[in-house]
Amino acid sequence: MNRLPRLDERELLALWERALPLPPPLRARELAWCEDGPAATLGEMNRRLLELQLRLTGPRLALLAPCPHCGETASFEIELPRLLQGLPEFVDPAEQVLSVDGWTLRFRLPAPADLPEAALDEQGFVRQLLERCVVDLQSPQGAGVLDGAWPAPLLAAWSEHLEAADPGAEIGFELACPACGRAWHAPFDPAAALWSWLQTLAERSLLDIDALARRYGWSEDQVLALTPTRRNAYLQLAQVD
Ligand SMILES: [Zn+2]
Repeated sequence: MNRLPRLDERELLALWERALPLPPPLRARELAWCEDGPAATLGEMNRRLLELQLRLTGPRLALLAPCPHCGETASFEIELPRLLQGLPEFVDPAEQVLSVDGWTLRFRLPAPADLPEAALDEQGFVRQLLERCVVDLQSPQGAGVLDGAWPAPLLAAWSEHLEAADPGAEIGFELACPACGRAWHAPFDPAAALWSWLQTLAERSLLDIDALARRYGWSEDQVLALTPTRRNAYLQLAQVD
């Protein structure tokens, strides 16, 4: 966990500013960046995002998920340390081989840089990810080139294989709806959760800086240098005419 940089408010604002203009996959990569460089696999990226979330917000994370059956919003809480314990410390991104129905697929595990930037449906997402990670494909006839669509069983098998080979790449929870009682699998996106927290932090910081700059003429640097206690005291004074 010590690989991650220690982030203070100033650094978090800089991270927010770098991530703000990026589409979600690139934003996830930016948020998961650390001094070791980019994560080697999607699972490693998610692990870093969860570790950072744990450092910034503590062990419990409250989440909301809409029930796909009746639309009621279910609230639930996840324990970040327990979630992290269930993920492997290290995943070897070495080349992998998968054989399905006479097809032999050689590929590398997807890295954050392989994530499609465009919004795609699930099958389109899996297909594009596979196209970026395939090293070699042999059809049942032995030809090395695939023309046309990927065979659906191969796509499905590849997706399943990824879940086993890089368990942190896809995270989700089994939830039960408090209104209709039916169960569903709710996917969890650590980058979206962290981004939501970071956006709230940035908005609050900028509002504080704005209020104190107006009242006292202080610069952003001067406001950020205040201790939380002094900042709150001045914010209260600033509200009094
Ligand atoms: Zn429901």
